[in-house]
Amino acid sequence: MIVIFIFPALQNGHDNHWVSTEFYASKSVAAILVQLMILLSGLTWEPIHTSCSFIRLAIGSKSQFYNNQMVFKQAIQTFFNRHMECIAESFRGKDVVVAVDVRYDSPGYCANKATAVFMEIESRKIIHMEIGDSRDVERRKSPRMGRYLVTKGLRYITSDRFNLVELVSDASSTIINILGTIEFKHIHHNLDIWHKAKSLAKRLAEIAKKASNRDIIPWIRPIINHLWYCCSKAQGDANRLVRKWFGLLHHIANRHDWLIGRCRHGTVTQASEGKKWLDVSSPAYKNLR
Ligand SMILES: [Zn+2]
Repeated sequence: MIVIFIFPALQNGHDNHWVSTEFYASKSVAAILVQLMILLSGLTWEPIHTSCSFIRLAIGSKSQFYNNQMVFKQAIQTFFNRHMECIAESFRGKDVVVAVDVRYDSPGYCANKATAVFMEIESRKIIHMEIGDSRDVERRKSPRMGRYLVTKGLRYITSDRFNLVELVSDASSTIINILGTIEFKHIHHNLDIWHKAKSLAKRLAEIAKKASNRDIIPWIRPIINHLWYCCSKAQGDANRLVRKWFGLLHHIANRHDWLIGRCRHGTVTQASEGKKWLDVSSPAYKNLR
């Protein structure tokens, strides 16, 4: 292990050095590695250099650090490109289903940086990334940045590199709009369950704010649970999913047996945990539909 490399000591008037690092082109390998560590962990030179100076640990000069950054950047870029090429090669000739999500550096509408990540859902491998700056969209608001990055990423993925058959995303209107354009209309769009559940809960809470829809409130949690239940039981069968999902509207109205199905629970005499059965003619039920 290379730890501390040059330790000057004055003993009996003799200047002794203890060196525990190898040298590469007359540069300390330990200093090079520490500088790389600073860069890879997203730290900055000043605080690390100051901390090291307290224990007389030499980690090179500031100018050496900044010059080495350019060398490291080149090496990282080459390694990363090779890695992404290998991933693309492993999916050649195969149909792929990809999940996409956009992350911003700050919440709300004033983000400066964003990353769109595209992941193949079976292997969970990241097959592509787009990193953007608000300047790319003339300092416009974050939805513009998300749209720009997802469009750019989809163009790359669909350009004879991958055979994209389905895109899974959150329920964001930006992505729904992109997939509605002529360029990407052929891609099947699926909403991922977690995001779908989140947007559904938000929508239900919104509806329940109205006094006439108050009776929906205790049903929100069971409805979200029912969505997860339906998705897991459907096992990819869309018709089965829809059938199970709409069973909810019967159950909430206290009808547990209907023409094409029935609930899977035991005998029910009253709605539990403060819930009230909804009357099919009530505004709450109509809005829920
Ligand atoms: Zn029921």
